[in-house]
Amino acid sequence: MKLNRFLRWGLFSLSLSAILILTAMNVYTLYEVRDTLIEGEQKKQIALLDEIALNVRRTIYRPYRGFNTLELEPIKGSLELNGQFPEQIREKLVQVAESPVFNGVYYTPADIDPCIEGSRVYELDRGSTLLSLTDNYPQILCDGVGLVRTKARIELNNFDYRWNTNTEFDAHRSMNIGFINLHENSVIGYLTAIIDQSYLIEEVIAPEIQQYFDSSKTTSVVWLHDWANDVVLATNNNKIPFEIEEVQKRVDFGRMFENWNLKIAFLDNASVKLYNATFTKNIIVLGFSAFLLLGALFYIFYTAQKERSILQQQTDFLANVTHELKTPLAVMQAAGENISDGRVSQPKRLKEYGAHIYQESVRLNKMIEMLLDVARSDYGTTLIHAKPYDLSDLVREILLQQKSLIMKKGHSLTHNLNLEYATVLVDPEHIKIILTNLIDNAIKYSVAPSIIHIELKAEKDGYNLIVKDQGIGIPRSHIKNIFKKFYRVEDSLSAKTKGHGLGLSIVQGLMQLNKGTIKVKSEKTSGSIFTCYFPKYYQDSSDSITKMSKNSNSSGSTQRNNHLSTETMV
Ligand code: ADP
Repeated sequence: MKLNRFLRWGLFSLSLSAILILTAMNVYTLYEVRDTLIEGEQKKQIALLDEIALNVRRTIYRPYRGFNTLELEPIKGSLELNGQFPEQIREKLVQVAESPVFNGVYYTPADIDPCIEGSRVYELDRGSTLLSLTDNYPQILCDGVGLVRTKARIELNNFDYRWNTNTEFDAHRSMNIGFINLHENSVIGYLTAIIDQSYLIEEVIAPEIQQYFDSSKTTSVVWLHDWANDVVLATNNNKIPFEIEEVQKRVDFGRMFENWNLKIAFLDNASVKLYNATFTKNIIVLGFSAFLLLGALFYIFYTAQKERSILQQQTDFLANVTHELKTPLAVMQAAGENISDGRVSQPKRLKEYGAHIYQESVRLNKMIEMLLDVARSDYGTTLIHAKPYDLSDLVREILLQQKSLIMKKGHSLTHNLNLEYATVLVDPEHIKIILTNLIDNAIKYSVAPSIIHIELKAEKDGYNLIVKDQGIGIPRSHIKNIFKKFYRVEDSLSAKTKGHGLGLSIVQGLMQLNKGTIKVKSEKTSGSIFTCYFPKYYQDSSDSITKMSKNSNSSGSTQRNNHLSTETMV
């Protein structure tokens, strides 16, 4: 038995844990898959941004490819000689002059400062790639040369500088290359290429952005943003305005264009959106299935437990009833045997034996009635013949019959039934069973002498029939169970008194049948109060109330009230 119980609870806990663990694992996996998908998608897009920045850098540097292999020292002599770069350098500069990214290329010898007004620098002619001296150069030349000069000075101070050029960008305005004489550790001059900003934006960066982030294919928005001036220079989607809060990632161009960077906002793309829709569906279905499984598990376990306890109760009951039925039968059998054998012949003794047989048969009958009542209420076949009655009349009548029993058991009865027109729609037989059972209990569970008090009270829409005793009371923890079938409080006095734990269950069933309710208030040792509530019966004419006595004696009155009676089978 113990092993079974252990197994049952063990399996229940295991199944419960299995369902919970499986559900949690599934939810976790679903979230993980979603996050990985989103993360993967975002990583892919960031890689594309990096690629755009790389392509732009390549476009800028491409014309200078091979510059670091050139011999730059001869520049000075060649310029002094014929005012031109040596031939091999001139050939290289063709690419720079032709690049549409630059709209002007100048060479400033190291001893010239373009910031001084009237200075003359060399300008490279785009077509012929020949140099000509000019004092008409853009002002940004001063800034660009200034920057690269400072930078070159710092680098050369290191002494281990190994490159023949040093490049510095004046933001997005110019690209400046310092030509270094590595033997003398000095600067030869500065080549400045003025960047064509609008060409760079419109013909290089914008198409790149459009190509990698075609707004018809992606929901992400990319902006080329000049953060120093807070302006958007290019974007793949003009419909979505730039919001700094929306930006999720930033990619810059390295040392180039330090005021500019590429910014991206990942708006849910189609695959993430699609996944999100299935994700929500999955979560709902999973939650629902887990809920169903848990519900089914609990239900199965609960009903199994309940069935077991009913089975147990029935087994106990059968054993109890068999014993209870056998006792009066044994008494009757012995008394009958004695009489039939002729062992008892004195009239006084005969009378005593007769009384014994009679009492035991009454007890037997009562018990059989109770069993039948339980069976009827179990199968829902209790009949109700409800008619409007005056509740105080009914109660008074029952008390008349019960009074002698109460007195006989050493208790006294007090009552307060002074209610006028307490009309209720009930079956008088049921009221009798209800009240008799409650009084029976009050007698059984009180130590004589004590007072049993019956009272009728008017309530808002009905009447309370109260049975109050000064008995042993019911421990608080048992109160919720006393209306259950076969339930008995295992108290010493309860245990000593005869009963099967059926009375209150029958009372409650009958109360429901008569549209009433029953409540109990009790404290151990301070007595119990049972309160039966009956709803008020509203009628048109007062003479349709059925009087107890009239009901039993006059068929005329019964007929008169037939239209008010209800007969229900539950
Ligand atoms: P029983 O046949 O055991 O009296 P009932 O269904 O009438 O069965 O009552 C159920 C249990 O409730 C009783 O066994 C008893 O312990 C408790 N009980 C009922 N009425 C009273 C009362 N008036 N005072 C104390 N205990 C009571």
